[in-house]
Amino acid sequence: MSSALWLFESSAGFLCIDANFFAGLYNFLLSMGEQSCRTSMCESVIMAGKILHAGTLFLFLSLVMTGCAGVTPLSHHVVVKRAQMHMGTLVTITAVASDLEAGHRVIQAGFNEIKRLERLLSTWIPESELSQVNAESGRRPVTVSRETLDLVARSMEMARLTEGGFNIAVGPAVEAWSVTERQRIPSDEELQRLKVLVDAVAIQIDMTGQTIFLPHQGMKIDVGGIGKGYAADRAAEAMKKAGAQGGVVALAGDIKTFGALPDAAGFPVGIKHPRKEGVVIAVSDLQDEAISTAGDYERFFERDGVRYHHILDPQTLRPARSCQSVTVIGKEGVLVDGLDTGIFVLGPERGMALIERLAGVEAVIIDDQGRMILSSGLRSRLRAP
Ligand code: ADP
Ligand code: MG
Repeated sequence: MSSALWLFESSAGFLCIDANFFAGLYNFLLSMGEQSCRTSMCESVIMAGKILHAGTLFLFLSLVMTGCAGVTPLSHHVVVKRAQMHMGTLVTITAVASDLEAGHRVIQAGFNEIKRLERLLSTWIPESELSQVNAESGRRPVTVSRETLDLVARSMEMARLTEGGFNIAVGPAVEAWSVTERQRIPSDEELQRLKVLVDAVAIQIDMTGQTIFLPHQGMKIDVGGIGKGYAADRAAEAMKKAGAQGGVVALAGDIKTFGALPDAAGFPVGIKHPRKEGVVIAVSDLQDEAISTAGDYERFFERDGVRYHHILDPQTLRPARSCQSVTVIGKEGVLVDGLDTGIFVLGPERGMALIERLAGVEAVIIDDQGRMILSSGLRSRLRAP
């Protein structure tokens, strides 16, 4: 059980990764840190490690204990964590700072940034820029901020990279399925009628005039597949500006890290099994990196033994079928979040070929049979939990 290779060679089904697990595990550790904020991180993590001794934490613990052993004086950082609901999800921000007050201040800066982006981008808020763009579909171009324009442009770049797998115009079809609420299966005719509305190529972006125009009434831009990664990036930047020494911004499974835990090499991340709740298949340290997972196992419903989930194939407007989960690691949250969704649609072969072409980006793909495929740069980085 001591290497990623072992995982790779183990029985079918024991395969995956999920950043969400990391969020739970890691947050637990840091909540221990929060309880003893005035102590060094080493002390607080050892405490957490004792509590979870028999669990999956030994790797993390041994890392930190290594840092604590010997004669080096303990570092005097605090690690503070807070969680709030934003963007329809649990947002957990962790800061490494010089003292408790600074920790809370930088965390607040992170949350403020996420709230600002939610007001700008959420399609649940009628006044948001994207809601206005959507409301004027088929009528007129809408002037938007440079930031909204840039995110939409990045989304179009993700669409190109993933051969249309990533599609920010898929919103009307997402609503038709309403996987988390009404949980309905739209008819073929209904999906056929929606086709014209989900044509992302039709979106008119005027970078100079700073406008976006959706030419057909009923078209909608939905940045659900990329916005959380972008928000994690921006919140991390806001924390750095406010003086954070290190931190983790986690919007559910979209996680951005910067710096490192005191006396550690970075932030350990676990990737979980898409079919076995709570089972972690591998761990990797992140250093100034982001990780994002798109999976079919968190937002779905089942009907007559068939799983219907929230990532739609823009070709069929039905749930994409060739992966169970796609985890991407790279420098930017916006990139890894866009890629995970797009590659989930694109499928394991073409998806992994894309990852291998992109510099500084790694991935773990679990295909529809539960087989794990690792990108070349990740093989030496992953470890058993
Ligand atoms: P989450 O972390 O919320 O699961 P993902 O990155 O997996 O997010 O993206 C899923 C969300 O993206 C869906 O809820 C939907 O809003 C949107 N979406 C669904 N299918 C696509 C697609 N093919 N391209 C872009 N966005 C999509
Ligand atoms: Mg995504």
